[in-house]
Amino acid sequence: MGTIKSNSVSTQKAAANNMCSAATHENVWVAPNRLETAFWIYDIDNQRIPFANASALELWQAESQDQLFNRDLGADMSTTVAERLRQYQSDFESSDAVFRELWTLYPGGVPTSLMVTFRGYRLQDGRMAMQCEVGSDVEDEPESLRSAEALLHTDVMISLYERDSAPFYMNPAARAAVQFSKQKLEDRFLHSSDYRILTKKLERVGEHRMIAKVNTKLGVKWHDISAKLCTDAYTGRPSVLITEIDVSELKNARDRARYLAESDQLTGCFNRSYLLQHISMLQKFQTDECALISFDIDKFKQINDRFGHEMGDVVLQEISGRIRASVREDDIVVRLGGDEFLVVLERYREREALEKTIRRIRDVIAKPIVHDERRVNTSISMGITVFHPRTADFTEVMREADIALYASKQAGRDRATFFDEKISREASARAKLEAELRDALEKEEFELFFQPRIELESGRIVSAEALVRWPHPTRGMVSPGEFIPVCEETGMIEELGQLILKKGCSYAMEWNKMGLDLQLSINISPRQFSNPGLMRELDRISRHPLFEKGIIELEITESVLVGDLDEIEAKLQTITKMGYGIAIDDFGTGYSSLSYITRFPLSCLKIDQSFIGQLPRSGPVMELILTLAKQIGATVVSEGVETKGQLEWLAKRDCDQVQGFYFARPVPQETFLHMLDDRPFEQKYIPKSA
Ligand code: C2E
Ligand code: MG
Ligand code: MG
Repeated sequence: MGTIKSNSVSTQKAAANNMCSAATHENVWVAPNRLETAFWIYDIDNQRIPFANASALELWQAESQDQLFNRDLGADMSTTVAERLRQYQSDFESSDAVFRELWTLYPGGVPTSLMVTFRGYRLQDGRMAMQCEVGSDVEDEPESLRSAEALLHTDVMISLYERDSAPFYMNPAARAAVQFSKQKLEDRFLHSSDYRILTKKLERVGEHRMIAKVNTKLGVKWHDISAKLCTDAYTGRPSVLITEIDVSELKNARDRARYLAESDQLTGCFNRSYLLQHISMLQKFQTDECALISFDIDKFKQINDRFGHEMGDVVLQEISGRIRASVREDDIVVRLGGDEFLVVLERYREREALEKTIRRIRDVIAKPIVHDERRVNTSISMGITVFHPRTADFTEVMREADIALYASKQAGRDRATFFDEKISREASARAKLEAELRDALEKEEFELFFQPRIELESGRIVSAEALVRWPHPTRGMVSPGEFIPVCEETGMIEELGQLILKKGCSYAMEWNKMGLDLQLSINISPRQFSNPGLMRELDRISRHPLFEKGIIELEITESVLVGDLDEIEAKLQTITKMGYGIAIDDFGTGYSSLSYITRFPLSCLKIDQSFIGQLPRSGPVMELILTLAKQIGATVVSEGVETKGQLEWLAKRDCDQVQGFYFARPVPQETFLHMLDDRPFEQKYIPKSA
């Protein structure tokens, strides 16, 4: 009885039943006994030897072919060996592979190490078997025997490739990994760039180690690859020795941890911490110019307010995903927070190529976002700057992109602006304005002017609007149109608003003390309105001994009335209860639904001045607003009245009050109080019935 442990192929039992048909083993070999070396056919499927020559019978210690055939060689075979044999079988199917390996047979329980050459052999019934031919006996070379054994057993994949060509040696582990036995080294890499790096390094230093994604029989895997230039000991040809270890599990776990640390969870974009690493890598290795795009989503807050945060999240994911898909693989998209993003584009020396990328981005963003049967059309504003990573200061580069982004927004959003000298100068001017404003705020240098509101019924000044002015040391009186937007953007409006409220209210209370029957309306910016500090301040003022219900009205714009309507309503109710009136300023220019008008406690609607300027075209809309105001019992004021004709038109339609240059421009308090005494409006007054 014999045992094979051809590197663990072993059998001890010789099964009695003959499973192989005579036809199969009769026709297997043509010139068996002429060979001196042992030779046999191994039926991999049935684990039998249907043919063996005389030397092989001797080697297997079998008396006849039938006796050998009756041995079930698979009975005691380890799964590793069975798998390896299957592997050989499929290798033979796909190519005319020949393997020369050291196997140890245990024919009579005594280990016999032999160099065996294996080839595919097709049986008559079409199945692939293996022909085995013994080469030299290596019993005398213990070192080579051990190293050959190790090569066969190890999980490390070892192969020798002809340069730029197919492998001419692979150990079993390597053979088990490749997609097919003649696969070129180049084709094993998932990314051809990895192969290019490898060959470059081999040319330069003769060896290289890398972790790369490779195609294997079991799919794409991460392999730790060591490559070395060498000469094939057998043919003397230059070759590449490749040693590979599968590190997928480790790499995937590490990648996951890294991904979590370096990416933004909502959008899957990179985060700020990765950006810094990426930039330092560019500073070291990138010799070409790069471009930085800073972008944000136009009116993102309104999307959140109108459609809810879930839709807001979808918009962030969709926009960033579309941009990622429209840039190259090396380029990165970073979410800095909120709706602020950066894109770092590598190798953008040519402006034309960059412009093409920008156009592509704009095109993909222009398509509507559909979610839960809702459709959102969005746009983005971009600021772009080109930089040389080796020399540029990245903080400065980010600043340039932001300045260009700001210019896009100023120009009306939904556009891309390149940073240049002109934009840079404008930004400096703005920075100067900002610094001056901060200084003025600290010194409380702002003043209030007053513009009268005249009641059409009586021709009397019944109210005034407080309008802020900035007495600039060199530029004279600066109007709010120039600095309010800057204060809004920088957040200074909260401090300025508080100052105005404090000043305005003290004027109103002073007038009350003087016995003047006057109301003062004070503008409240949207940002100021959403600040909880406002309610505390209003409450504090309302407790002042000179405060009286109705002497102060707050002007808010329609844009304040979107979002959580219950919350807004409650807030407006509280303000009303404290004794303040609430006016909607610039009414008709917002896009909120008219239904809110009935819901909120509004004391006044101020028709935006653009309507009166567009008469008679705007007549029907103005008439509608006048009717609406009457229905909800609010006072209606027409702003921007500049001519007698406009006044007449309003008088005929029962408008309550007017405000405009026809009567007076905003003036300092002193001048305003004189107006009350002089009553110059009576000459201009047109009775309602006229
Ligand atoms: P607003 O609240 O609608 O104020 C009316 C603006 O129209 C004032 O401009 C006023 O001077 C101007 N105006 C009045 N009558 C006429 C007219 O007949 N013709 C024309 N063409 N314009 C007229 P002003 O003072 O330059 O203020 C502009 C805007 O700045 C204000 O619009 C308001 O939105 C904002 N603003 C002014 N003062 C304050 C303030 O104290 N706080 C806040 N948050 N915003 C303010
Ligand atoms: Mg106003
Ligand atoms: Mg207005």
